Amino acid sequence: MKEDPLLMIPGPTMVPSRVVRAMSAPILPHRGSAFSALFLEQIERLKKIFQTKNDIFILCGSGTAAMEAAVSNVVEPGDKVICLVNGKFSGRFYEIAGRFKATPVVINFEWGSAVDVEGVREALATHPDAKAVTMVFNETSTGVRNPVKEVGELVKDTDAVFIVDTISALGGDEFRTDDWHVDMCATGSQKCLALPPGLAFISVSEKAWKVIEATDSSSYYLDLRRYRDDKAHAPYTPPVTLVYGLKASLDIIDEEGLDRRIERHRRLARIVREEAQKMGLTLFPSSEDICSSTVTALRVPEGIDPGKLRGVLRDEFDIIIAGGQAQLKGDIIRIGHM
Ligand code: PLP
Repeated sequence: MKEDPLLMIPGPTMVPSRVVRAMSAPILPHRGSAFSALFLEQIERLKKIFQTKNDIFILCGSGTAAMEAAVSNVVEPGDKVICLVNGKFSGRFYEIAGRFKATPVVINFEWGSAVDVEGVREALATHPDAKAVTMVFNETSTGVRNPVKEVGELVKDTDAVFIVDTISALGGDEFRTDDWHVDMCATGSQKCLALPPGLAFISVSEKAWKVIEATDSSSYYLDLRRYRDDKAHAPYTPPVTLVYGLKASLDIIDEEGLDRRIERHRRLARIVREEAQKMGLTLFPSSEDICSSTVTALRVPEGIDPGKLRGVLRDEFDIIIAGGQAQLKGDIIRIGHM
């Protein structure tokens, strides 16, 4: 295998050399005015990617840090959290809620199918005291795109905070935080934003702030109130070089145009789906209309070992694709289009 194989995994993605170069600039003092101006400017620019007017915070950590920030800031022990689970990453919200001693109510949907909106309606009616609802927009483990807009329409009329993980889609697929009534949107740097791993981002709505202010959170490093109080540079040393990289990445997105970028992902995903099916592979998601634009999950024909197939791609073609995760380990392949 070459030193620089073609990464076609669903993150981390290949980082443009322009971003790498930007990250080699000298370190600025993180409490100085030059860094603060840069930091605040990137936060404003991220609002366009999130499609939000809400607060956005840059956290030091991988995407899971933003998931944990969301849950841990709105729950106290015993609080009920409805977790909509149809894959590995949506299951992570359930684990986090349990870790913070909330009472997670898991609503399971088959892996490979999308979250069923009627099931959510029932869950909200059965648990009107739920303090939060968690969901993953783009379930990377199954290649399924979930109906956040439709679920948001239901959650907005309740007291629950709507928490959505967009880690493997934001910047590569259409996502409208405000129009879809998402109170806390969590994402990460190493997927569609084409940055190295290490930054997490979270948006916080007014509705979420009201809950956060009334919650005795047990989070310390990820206590969002402290980030709000220290907006200009984050309360703890931010990863300065990654913020330089973020600026370069947002420049590249501006130049391409977000709409064109989204369309590019759709086109690549469609081509991969069409060509893979011609070769005898089948889509893992239960129907084409719920397929993700950023990662395609496929079953390989009988008699072909997905692990061996990945090995051939790696050893003979220098192309890295992903296998299945958790219960799908050894069953499917996943191709990233990010
Ligand atoms: N959620 C989704 C949908 C993901 O795809 C991933 C990573 O693949 C994660 C969460 C976890 O993100 P991280 O590894 O950046 O913490």
